[in-house]
Amino acid sequence: MRTVTPIQTASPPSRDVEAAFTNWKWQQQNALTSVNDLVRTFPPLAGTPLLARISRRLGSRKLGLTPYYVNLIERDAHGLPRVDDPLWLQVVPTWTEDSNHALSYDGESENWELPHEIVTPICQHKYDNRVIIRAVNVCHAYCQFCYEALRTLETESDKGKFKKSDWAATLKYIADHPEIDEAILSGGEPLMHADPQLAGLLRDLRALRPDLIIRVHTRALTFNPYRITEALVAALRETRVTAVGVHVAHPREITAEFIAAVGKLRSAVPLLFANIALLAGINDSLPVMKELCLTLYRNGVLPHYLYQFMPFSPGDTQFSSDISRGIAIVSQMKRRISNMAVPEFVLPHKTGKFTVPLHLPGEAPQLESREGREFMNFRNWKGEPCVFPG
Ligand code: SF4
Repeated sequence: MRTVTPIQTASPPSRDVEAAFTNWKWQQQNALTSVNDLVRTFPPLAGTPLLARISRRLGSRKLGLTPYYVNLIERDAHGLPRVDDPLWLQVVPTWTEDSNHALSYDGESENWELPHEIVTPICQHKYDNRVIIRAVNVCHAYCQFCYEALRTLETESDKGKFKKSDWAATLKYIADHPEIDEAILSGGEPLMHADPQLAGLLRDLRALRPDLIIRVHTRALTFNPYRITEALVAALRETRVTAVGVHVAHPREITAEFIAAVGKLRSAVPLLFANIALLAGINDSLPVMKELCLTLYRNGVLPHYLYQFMPFSPGDTQFSSDISRGIAIVSQMKRRISNMAVPEFVLPHKTGKFTVPLHLPGEAPQLESREGREFMNFRNWKGEPCVFPG
């Protein structure tokens, strides 16, 4: 388990930086948001071809790294971020090539927000019984592969900012549609709302219906675990939030601070689960994924979904991994560790998630009938052929 200690920051540290470092707002105020901030934090970057490349990529795209997250990035002997550091690679656009295939990100295509599902500017009625509410378009830090890039990464996003009138319309929509069982607060990063505002949103939702399932998704534990304040925990408890979805990508993100934040959330929220994006060079290997999922499980967070990288996201030349690689990783995990630590591997299709069958070629189970009885032919956890009953 890693512990983060305050070191270098983008702004000159104040005398009481030690105390300030654990304040989530201080983390946001001191986040690295420009190429100049990168150079101040990693001086050997100045004048390098890498910096020129990053600078070009950031033409219309946001950058964001909290000082906390910066401290987790490993440096080489020259003080440069390690070229293969999985944390650095997620938040800084370092890739050398641009893809131009039909599915690549073009800053216009949007794979998630199908017009016929958008019921207010911030609310999407997805599946039969759920609404996704995009409560904000900003984040604690910016993943350069973001699936919501048009909202979050684009500096000139045309997605509307959160407005009270849109919130009121969203509440009315939920009230008018009793088939909605669940409201999912998403974003961007919903925890970018300050505690009083977020508590107000949660109270509004809870006031609609006592049995409404309220779910909150966040990447705060990775980028700014100090965001899990006592006031936030109290609001989650008071409004009986059902579940918090923790977004995480690499075992090195699970620090002592991350685990402390999990403990606070667990004191108020019945269900914590993790969503993980499969990212080439970051976590698309069996040892890394296994360590990530076991560490989450060990600390009370169930690995829930592993998402295939979505082709319409930025950085596909760097982050895209084959579907067959995801199948191999998850099927091997299923044969080695508890199922509760194994996420469901899904394709994030615009019509809805699709669970990928995990059978390797020639290993799909077969159901057959003989003499009026059904038999299932399958492979057991060791890969041996078996028949049930038998
Ligand atoms: S925190 Fe989530 S919404 Fe924000 S940039 Fe990262 S993946 Fe996108």
